[in-house]
Amino acid sequence: MSDLTELSLCDARHALDTKKISAVELTDAYLNRMEKHQNLNCYITVTADNARIQAQNADKNIASGDIRALTGIPLGIKDLFCTKDILTTAASHILDGFKPAYESTITQKIFDAGGVMLGKLNLDEFAMGSGNETSYYGTVINPWRKISNPSQNLVAGGSSGGSSASVAAHLCVAATGTDTGGSIRQPAAFTGIVGLKPTYGRCSRYGVVAFSSSLDQAGPMARTVMDTAVLLGVMSGHDPLDSTSADITVPDFTKNIKNGVKGLKIGIPKEYFSDKLPPEIIAYWNSAKAVYQSLGAEIIDISLPHTQYALPAYYIIAPAEASSNLARYDGVRYGLRSAGNNINEMYENTRADGFGAEVKRRIMIGTYVLSAGYYDAYYVRAQKIRTLISNDFIQAFEKVDVILTPATPSSAFEVGKKITDPTEVYLNDVYTVPVNLAGLPALSLPVGLDNDGLPLGLQLIGRSFDEETLLRAAYSLEQEINFTKTAL
Ligand code: GLN
Repeated sequence: MSDLTELSLCDARHALDTKKISAVELTDAYLNRMEKHQNLNCYITVTADNARIQAQNADKNIASGDIRALTGIPLGIKDLFCTKDILTTAASHILDGFKPAYESTITQKIFDAGGVMLGKLNLDEFAMGSGNETSYYGTVINPWRKISNPSQNLVAGGSSGGSSASVAAHLCVAATGTDTGGSIRQPAAFTGIVGLKPTYGRCSRYGVVAFSSSLDQAGPMARTVMDTAVLLGVMSGHDPLDSTSADITVPDFTKNIKNGVKGLKIGIPKEYFSDKLPPEIIAYWNSAKAVYQSLGAEIIDISLPHTQYALPAYYIIAPAEASSNLARYDGVRYGLRSAGNNINEMYENTRADGFGAEVKRRIMIGTYVLSAGYYDAYYVRAQKIRTLISNDFIQAFEKVDVILTPATPSSAFEVGKKITDPTEVYLNDVYTVPVNLAGLPALSLPVGLDNDGLPLGLQLIGRSFDEETLLRAAYSLEQEINFTKTAL
């Protein structure tokens, strides 16, 4: 086989099981490629020695017939997941040197399923951002380039920019991401890969560094819908260590994935249409509708009337929760400590030195909207809007089975172009945040390139805990569209 890093998760599984390749060979192929493409800045920490040990164990297990879903599969882990005794940074200076004493439930599940961890992937600081430009460890570079200006670096999306770029550049087979307002789906769309945000409660948040606890959800990012379904299966399940984790049976997400979309009702929300959308996005949206119709699905116009309030509500609720969650970084328990003449000064200096500008902005907004004089005016109203948005979806799902929308309002933007204007960056989340406010599952699927050669994605939104239908609809579209372009 010429290049092992070309294999999808399912093809690698087959090649390993039939002993055409070994897990050690596969892992080494990835470690070599990671070294070649260090300029993309995908990994904060490479765990090569551990990966080789895990791969050797995988080969032993395969030889003895103990084969699990991820045995010998090299994966990247977003550096927001705590990994026991391995540096975990959340891409923040404040977590300098932090080596957790415990393993996150998701990484434990991945290891129990035989997965090999190549390293910890770059992200926006504490997952706050849309371009991976707020990372203390620097911006991740999108492996895709504009035809018109190939020397211009583009963002890989955020906050899971290390995850998206590494999957797109074949620096891991698949990766974990987290999505609070779009951080799996938007970077997936910017890099031409598949990203799925599961229903809130489907995957455990135990050991995932908290940003906004009522919105955060971990999920898989991969190069195909089938690979995404396999990784989702491993990551899902009830966890007594997370009180918001749902005690709901996990189906085999691959089982019905090929069953087609005949009779499926697909909703098109009119509020997601804007004449400011690039014509290519509208064209791909229309052709996806046509593909679904030709496969026997029914396209139904729907309305989600409170959509325009989602972004402002999100940028109150998420910072409010963040300001509370990030209060724990005081220089005593974790990572960085900056000296001061007394304990208050030590707290202040640590937080001033340790947090970047975007994180400080969120802490200030969050503290403000939660303060006595403004709580009712901002926080309570945002929570009311959240309920209205949830109700919009509940009503829509009485008429349709899935909802089809654009994933992002544009293709990947240039590094440095938006970071000086935070509201410009926030606008990127316009199509993704309503889903988090409602706790629903949603997936971003690559559908083609824009006129400048950059990937675009469409989003499918599903009913609560109905990732199966979501994956089935995505698989059908993927097979018809057959998007095979790669970045490198
Ligand atoms: N871009 C959004 C934000 O900055 C979403 C981030 C995320 O989903 N983690 O809040």
